[in-house]
Parts: sequence; structure tokens; C-alpha cells
Amino acid sequence: MANNKQDCCSFCKRPGYTAETGPLIKADNGVMICQHCVETCHQLFASQEDEKQTEARNSLESLMNRPLPKPAEIKAELDKYVVGQEQAKRIISVAVHNHYKRLFGKGSENAKAVDRDFADVEIEKSNVLLIGPTGSGKTLIAKTLARMLDVPFCITDATTLTEAGYVGEDVENIILRLLQAADFNVEKTQVGIIYVDEIDKISKKSENVSITRDVSGEGVQQALLKILEGTVANVPPKGGRKHPNQPFIQVDTTNILFICGGAFVGLDKIVQRRIGHHVLGFNSSEAAAAQEEQLEPAKILHSVEPEDLVRYGLIPEFIGRLPVVTALEPLTKPDLMKILTEPKNSLTRQYEKLLAYENVKLRFEPEALDALAEKAVVKGTGARGLRSIIESMMTSIMYELPSRNDVTECIITKDTVETGKAVFKTKKS
Ligand code: ADP
Repeated sequence: MANNKQDCCSFCKRPGYTAETGPLIKADNGVMICQHCVETCHQLFASQEDEKQTEARNSLESLMNRPLPKPAEIKAELDKYVVGQEQAKRIISVAVHNHYKRLFGKGSENAKAVDRDFADVEIEKSNVLLIGPTGSGKTLIAKTLARMLDVPFCITDATTLTEAGYVGEDVENIILRLLQAADFNVEKTQVGIIYVDEIDKISKKSENVSITRDVSGEGVQQALLKILEGTVANVPPKGGRKHPNQPFIQVDTTNILFICGGAFVGLDKIVQRRIGHHVLGFNSSEAAAAQEEQLEPAKILHSVEPEDLVRYGLIPEFIGRLPVVTALEPLTKPDLMKILTEPKNSLTRQYEKLLAYENVKLRFEPEALDALAEKAVVKGTGARGLRSIIESMMTSIMYELPSRNDVTECIITKDTVETGKAVFKTKKS
């Protein structure tokens, strides 16, 4: 603190140590500030904080005052982006509608009357478990839902989590991701959607080679229970492990929708065995039907029951927090062909746009689409494989085209898929 009576406040320029200014604080570089200016700054910061909070509340209110999309509308929006997976899209549309019903349109007369009449009834959360092979659209569904509802969204990975006391991330870090996606607006965060990928990897029997991680996975399930159900989580704003001196941001997870996804390799066999068991020894026609079902491995997961998931290694309490379970089927070749062309942001449309910048019209022959889909089927990574297949096919074409200004059209044929050489139409031809 400065104590020279000649000193002035660098901000208001008044001399220090008077009734108006009070004492001065001096910085190393000679800049001084009086008590009066410090108080003014304090008020300014406080009013800015208030403004921020009002803004957050208003943006949440405008979010919640919109009409809630009906299940059929949610499904129609999903249809624009997600090919196939009819059953999963229907089930999830209902679940999401019911989840947000508790939040959207709270001001309507009807909603108020219902809340009054059913004051003692609390609708439980409908968190969702998506079971399906890699590249079948699990993340895409979650992402599309969040965009449509205009709520914050983040993708997290269950394998990075550990139970408290182990090396790895605390479960609160998945809430931190959502906070970041919502620009640290806590109110909006509390109505967001979190997609937790690789949930099957935290099953009890899951092999885990790491010596520093929770080896059973059960501890992580236990740790996730509370935030899936709804709790006030203490989120470390900078991430990492919690430590006692760090300030926390408190986020209530009651209205956050969790969508968990996993491939659950081998679960089909567990379901199959159960169905077979129940039928065997009753009558032979049912046994035959079970045998027949065995021929359709793609459909078998639609019959999954909580007991199958327990056998797979999820603890019953954890399954209880994911009441909506639905299976996605492996994408077939016709599905993959549709994915290439039909969604709004389809891969072929993306490449058409890229080449249009070069004033070249890009055209895919149907046989080429067939061959591309076939390659993806062989690769076995669902639609995920399509992108890398197309990208590697297009590399030499996209290398050559910008250097040529005579090409008007580029045709991708079946042969192009094998050789990477497209048919070019030029101005002269
Ligand atoms: P996962 O099931 O492994 O979560 P993703 O949803 O991440 O798979 O899919 C990977 C990519 O493949 C997506 O970005 C999307 O472009 C495409 N894709 C996957 N499934 C579908 C589908 N059913 N319809 C349209 N595109 C899909």
C-alpha cells in the first residue's frame, strides 16, 4: 500500500487518502488505485455477473417455451440423416419426447394442471442404451437429436473413466464436456444430452490390460450410477482429478439425457442361448422357431432383456438407470448405398460440392455405388468404412483436377472404384 500523501489514483486522478478516495493501492509499475475506484469496479463486475445469469435464464426459458416436437416429428427428422434402424429410431423418438415433456412447455395451463393433479408422481428419466455394431449410426442418432432440439451435446468415452482413487478421469469430467459445449452456461447444461460411447467396455468381465485402471469396470459403473440417475455433481472446471482446493461448478444432472452406446460383441450369443433355453423341452415347433431365429443374427438383439445384460457384465443397478434399450442392426449393402446418396449431408453430395468449386460436375454411376458399398461390407466397419474408401478412391482425382481447366464432368464408374481413375469429359469432347 502506498503512503505518500502526494500520490493520486491513476484511474480517477484524485489525490489519495481523502474522504472521497480512501487509501491507495500501488502496483509494482507505479499504477495506483483508490478505494473508491476499487468499489466501483466491484459493483461493475457484480452487475455483469447478474446480466450473465439473467441471459442464461432467458436463453433456457426461450428453449423451454418452444413446442415440444412429437415423436413422429422427431423420427421424421432422424429419417433425414439416419438410414434404416427403424425400430431404434421409433423407440428413441418416444423416449426423447417423454424426457423433454418434463421440461418443455412448462408454462402451459395443461402442464400446470397435470403437475397439480399428479404432484406425488415423479416421472423417472428415460436414459437410453443403444446396442449395435460399430458404424451403424449410434452416435449419429444422438448427435441428430441434440441438433434438432437445440440443446448442448457432447460425446464421451466410457473407457477413459475410472472409479475414484485410480489413475484416469473422474466421471464428473463427462459433465465438464457438456458444460464446455454449453459455453459454461449451467442452466443449459442441465438439459443437455451426453452420449457415452463404448459402454460395453466397462462390463465386469471386460478384459482390461491397464495396470493403473480400475480392472473390473464395475467401479466405473458404480461411479456413473449417480450422475445417470440425477445428482448435483461437483465439476472441476479445468478437468482432471478432483483435489480439495479446487473450486467446483455444481451441475444438477436430473434432466440431462444420457444416451449410452456400445457394440456388445457376443451379446447376441447370450440372448440366443436364453431364447433357446426357454423353448427347449416345451414343444418342438417353438424350438424350431428359435432355431429359425438363430439364422437371423442381425435381429436377435431386438430381443435383448436386462438379464442378458447382467450376464454380459453390467450390474443390475446400472441397467436400471438405462430403462430404454434398443438395438441397431448391422447395415446391409442396400443401406450403405442409400447412405452414400440419400442423407442431406451424404458423402457423394459432399464430393459433388468439392468438385463444383472446380466447376466440375461429379457423377457416380449406380454400379460404382454398388461397388463402394460392397467394399464397405467387406471391411466390416459399417458406414464408417465408406468415408475412407471414397477418400482413397478420390485422392488421385482430386490431385489432378485443380491443375486442369478443360474438365467439365467427372464420372465415377465401377472401374474407378478399383483403379482410382475416373472418366473425364472435357470442353472439347
Ligand atoms: P457408431 O454406431 O459406431 O456410433 P456413427 O454413428 O459414429 O457410428 O457412424 C459413423 C459415420 O457413419 C457417421 O458419421 C455417419 O456419417 C455414418 N453412418 C453410420 N450409420 C449411419 C446410418 N444408419 N445412416 C446414415 N449414416 C450413417
